[in-house]
Amino acid sequence: MDSFESLLESLKCDVCLDSIQQEDDVLVQCSQCLVCVHQHCYGSDLVQSDITPEHLCNWKCAECAWNETHCQLNQSTPCFMCKQFGGAMKKYSAESWAHITCINWNKYIFFQDKFKDSTNISLEMLHLYQKPDTLCYICEFSEGVMIKCDNRVCKLNFHVRCGIQKGLIKDWQTMNMFRRDDDDFDCNVFCQDHLEIFEEKRFKFPLEILNNRREARKARKAVRDSRLKKLRQQRKTKRKRHKDIVREWKEKKVKRAYYIHS
Ligand SMILES: [Zn+2]
Ligand SMILES: [Zn+2]
Ligand SMILES: [Zn+2]
Ligand SMILES: [Zn+2]
Ligand SMILES: [Zn+2]
Repeated sequence: MDSFESLLESLKCDVCLDSIQQEDDVLVQCSQCLVCVHQHCYGSDLVQSDITPEHLCNWKCAECAWNETHCQLNQSTPCFMCKQFGGAMKKYSAESWAHITCINWNKYIFFQDKFKDSTNISLEMLHLYQKPDTLCYICEFSEGVMIKCDNRVCKLNFHVRCGIQKGLIKDWQTMNMFRRDDDDFDCNVFCQDHLEIFEEKRFKFPLEILNNRREARKARKAVRDSRLKKLRQQRKTKRKRHKDIVREWKEKKVKRAYYIHS
């Protein structure tokens, strides 16, 4: 029993990298390749309302199911974005498969709905957002689609899965601390050096202080905005007064001209 429980604990979702389960969001394992995912992290057939326990027990991931129907046992294809094999992948265009993580962490592409079967743009379009000859600083390959370190001055790029292996992208809960803003869904992803700098800062300033600083920043912005509004209003009334003066003056001129000529 102990080993079974430790096995359960060692199971980690390939998408959010977390092992916590909820009643309506359990970890499901592919009966073929043993990849492990949360129902809602994976989408597709795992989030259908009429899903049965039998289906969960005998579930096959999209890649294994595709291989089965196409009689290509264990013929895996690399991810279009990170060029790595294995993991939770789906087929997102005629020829290309991609990891759900590789899409989740790329700013330019996102899923259309909870089923996560279609994306806002095609995978191939992602090359448009990437400079030619971009190199992954971790695996040193130039193929595929990379993400950039979120430090503004840093020029380092890396594949999402390389970043996960290097520990730059951690489980979803930890990454929540890297959120850009309270109401922003985007998290910062850094290269090794900038991650260390960020974590050091986080260590020095616990979350409450940072949140307080965020509040302070928001308050300052509100003051600035109200001042700006007042200034705009003043300018507007000045402009209006000036217009009135000009109009009055013109009217006077016309009147004067009328007196002179009559
Ligand atoms: Zn998950
Ligand atoms: Zn599988
Ligand atoms: Zn990938
Ligand atoms: Zn790489
Ligand atoms: Zn960096």
